Order: sequence, then structure tokens, then C-alpha cells
Amino acid sequence: MTERVLVTGASGFIAGHCIRDLLDQGYAVRGTVRDLTSADKIAHLYGLADGAAGELELVEADLSSDDGWPEAVAGCDYVLHVASPFPSGVPDDEDELIRPAVDGTLRVLRACAASGTVRRVVLTSSVAAISSGHSRRDPAPYTEHDWSVVEHSTAYQKSKTLAERAAWDYVAELAEAQRFELAVINPGLVLGPVQTAAARTSVNVVRTLLARAQPGSPAIGFAVVDVRDLAVAHRHAMTLPHAAGHRYICAGDNIWMRDIAKTLAAEFNPRGFRVPTGSVPRWLVWIAARFDPTMRLALELIGRPERVDSTKARRELNWQMRPTERTIIDTAESLIEHGVVTPARRRLARQAATA
Ligand code: NDP
Repeated sequence: MTERVLVTGASGFIAGHCIRDLLDQGYAVRGTVRDLTSADKIAHLYGLADGAAGELELVEADLSSDDGWPEAVAGCDYVLHVASPFPSGVPDDEDELIRPAVDGTLRVLRACAASGTVRRVVLTSSVAAISSGHSRRDPAPYTEHDWSVVEHSTAYQKSKTLAERAAWDYVAELAEAQRFELAVINPGLVLGPVQTAAARTSVNVVRTLLARAQPGSPAIGFAVVDVRDLAVAHRHAMTLPHAAGHRYICAGDNIWMRDIAKTLAAEFNPRGFRVPTGSVPRWLVWIAARFDPTMRLALELIGRPERVDSTKARRELNWQMRPTERTIIDTAESLIEHGVVTPARRRLARQAATA
């Protein structure tokens, strides 16, 4: 019989690719969205099942409410819990992020425990739950043994750390009759092709450079993972027996934002873009952060490389990552294809025509 997978936050960047991958593999997929009438966020999902072996249905459920979760998990064999608030700036009240992340995760897990059918949940956590808030100067990469120090973490980092901890604690306490397995994926910065022009999260790093929306790059380091490879990691964590009870970092070596800019400039500046390849000093980010919440977030990350070790995922999940340069270029190609960014020459011509 066809196995059924619930994917939460179906409208999201990562979830969309997980859904596509699962459908290609012949799974029946049920996706949760917050609002079934929100066409701009979910229209692209209906096309994902075209030509795929599996079937897709969408249902409504919000992490802030108990409503809909028992129905959403009913009859599912697996759950990929991907949904979580993912802001581009720093919220005024950190509970705006933490509460839906933690309470929402527990809502999904409670529904799984009561379902009688769910065998395993894969939770999309983050390297933000591993490498944040540490003061160590040791250049050794962080591994799955490490946990972020919440007292010194940003609101988003806290939300991911506390939600993952809550999930592990919850499954550890489950009564025998309600037991299901948990595996966790901890991705780095997720890039790769967007499925819709509405996609706006981590790909903003590429979008702002390609659109020259900033004059250069602050010294921010990322450990990039391709969203297509990440979808495969989720599926392997869902099906491989030995993955139960484990967390897996999925991310490459540290790459500085300026190096992302250089890769983009080499490929796209000859095609009419004006990707800035210079650096932005910390003091300028500090000034910009007084007006711009994205820059406030950037300020907190400056000067620190993201060093994480994904050896365990490669070894145990039988998992591979494509080269980061390919991922960066494919992200940009998809943003151009979806009309999110246009070449500077065409932008200037359009502005001149409407002036
Ligand atoms: P998106 O913003 O594209 O997706 C987030 C999804 O979560 C959306 O579907 C959103 O729904 C949903 N969501 C947010 N708040 C709620 C809520 N209260 N109730 C129900 N659904 C909600 O982000 P990504 O796809 O990039 O991220 C997905 C997951 O991956 C998150 O858990 C994020 O923390 C994690 N992650 C992402 C990384 C990245 O670089 N992108 C890196 C590491 C981890 P709606 O469309 O209605 O807003």
C-alpha cells in the first residue's frame, strides 16, 4: 500500500522541495498550509504532482492552534515537520517566534502520538540549534553533540534550539502505546531553485546581491546546503532504520558572503547584472541596523564563520551535496526565471521609459 507523509508548512521553500521529492518517489503527500485560499503562496503546489508518481492533498492547520492537527496526521505513516516562523529580521517580541516554534512542534507531536499510525517524525531544526551563542574561539567545527547556548542566542536561534529540545524531551517521555521515532535534520543556509516568485527566506542572500540592493557584503559566514539535496536528506532520515534517534547536520564548509557575491558576479555581471563584490564594514552595518531589521540580524552574525561538520549525514544518511557554486548559480537562475530579479540594464531602461 502507498505510504502517506504529512509535510507541515507546505507553502515554504524547503517543504516545497521535500514534497516534490516525495511525490517523485511515489509517496502520497498531505501538506499543511495556514490558509487554503492564499493563492499567491500555494498555487505552485498544485503543479508539483504533475508527472509525479504520488498524489498531493492540502489541508489547513496553524502552529498557533490545536485545530486541524489530528485530522492532518490521520492515516499518515511519516511526518516531516518543516513549518516554523522564519523571519528576515529581529522581532520586537521574541515570543512571536519562540511560542509558535515550540508550542507548534509539541502540537504536531501530540497529534502524532494520538494518531496510532505515525511511525516516524523528521523535524527540520537548524545549525542555529547547534552553533549559536558559544564564546569558544576553537576553530574545530561544531557537530551534532553541540547545542546552542540560548542565553546568548538571537530570537530565531532560541526558537530553533528550544523547539528541537522540546521535541527530544517529548518523545523520550512517551508511553509505549503512543511511541514513534524522531530524527532531526539541522540544515545550514538553504539555497537552491525557488519554486515560486513568492519564496523569500534564505534565498534573499542571493536576491539582494543580484539586485544590488546592498552596496557590498558584510563579513558574514554561511554553511550552505542545496534545497534539493536537503529534501533527499529528509527522505533518508525518514526511511533509514538507523536514523531514528539522531540529529544530522546538513551543510557545507563556511563560505563568506563576499565569496557568494564573487561567484554571482563572475556568472551574471557579463549578463547585465551588477553584483557588488566589495566589503561593507561593520560600522556601516551598525548604522543601517538602526533603520533596517534585516541589518540588525546581520549585525549579530558579523565576523563569525559558520563551521559545522556534516560527516555524520554523509556517512549515515548515504547523502551527498552538490558543489556550493552550482547551488548559488542555480538559485540566481531561478530568481531570474521567476522574474524576482531582472538585469540592471533592463531595470534602468524600464525606469527611463516610465519617467
Ligand atoms: P519558509 O519561510 O519558506 O517556510 C516556513 C513555513 O512555515 C511556511 O510554510 C510558513 O507558512 C510556515 N509557518 C510559519 N509560521 C507558521 C505558523 N504559525 N503555523 C503554520 N505554519 C507556519 O522557510 P524555509 O522553508 O526556509 O524554512 C523551513 C524550515 O527550515 C523552518 O523550520 C526553518 O527554521 C528551517 N531552516 C531553514 C533554513 C534556511 O536557510 N531556509 C536553515 C535552517 C533551518 P506561511 O507560508 O503561511 O507563512
